[in-house]
Amino acid sequence: MANPLESFASGTVTEASAKSSFVADPTVFPCIRCGVCCSIYQVRVSRSEAERIADRMGMNYWDWVGHHCDPRWPDSRSHLIGHTDEACIFLEKADVDVYRCAIYDVRPDSCRNWVAGVFKPACQEGLTRFWNIRVSSRGQLEGDGDSLTRLRRFIGML
Ligand code: SF4
Ligand code: SF4
Repeated sequence: MANPLESFASGTVTEASAKSSFVADPTVFPCIRCGVCCSIYQVRVSRSEAERIADRMGMNYWDWVGHHCDPRWPDSRSHLIGHTDEACIFLEKADVDVYRCAIYDVRPDSCRNWVAGVFKPACQEGLTRFWNIRVSSRGQLEGDGDSLTRLRRFIGML
């Protein structure tokens, strides 16, 4: 049986059914690049991880720490990536309502291991804030026809 999200993205779900809701498989929900998780969580990196990222960015370790880490973090064995008032300092706007990580290829392990999911509050916040779509307790994405159609097209382009 076709994956419901793939059916949704490819448009094989009928307009009539798309107008009300569709059932998303929480295990395959894609990141919609809303950036909410990067604004909520402040990421901790080990010293070796910080060294790796600094090296890949062509920077001296302590220069990297001074420029990119939060000086208030008290643990000398690790660092906290800096935040602006709004989000991680590496979060960039890529397009209208779409964000990207400026160090995506060398991003910290905790960012690499984080996966999107319809039951995650951060992803639900992104769906509501940018797409006017809510998630039911059963994992259904619910919204008006226009919102669901826009999201379907966006997911289809990912
Ligand atoms: S390093 Fe990149 S992926 Fe991780 S929180 Fe910052 S912007 Fe998000
Ligand atoms: S909150 Fe979820 S959908 Fe939004 S950027 Fe993070 S993982 Fe992706």
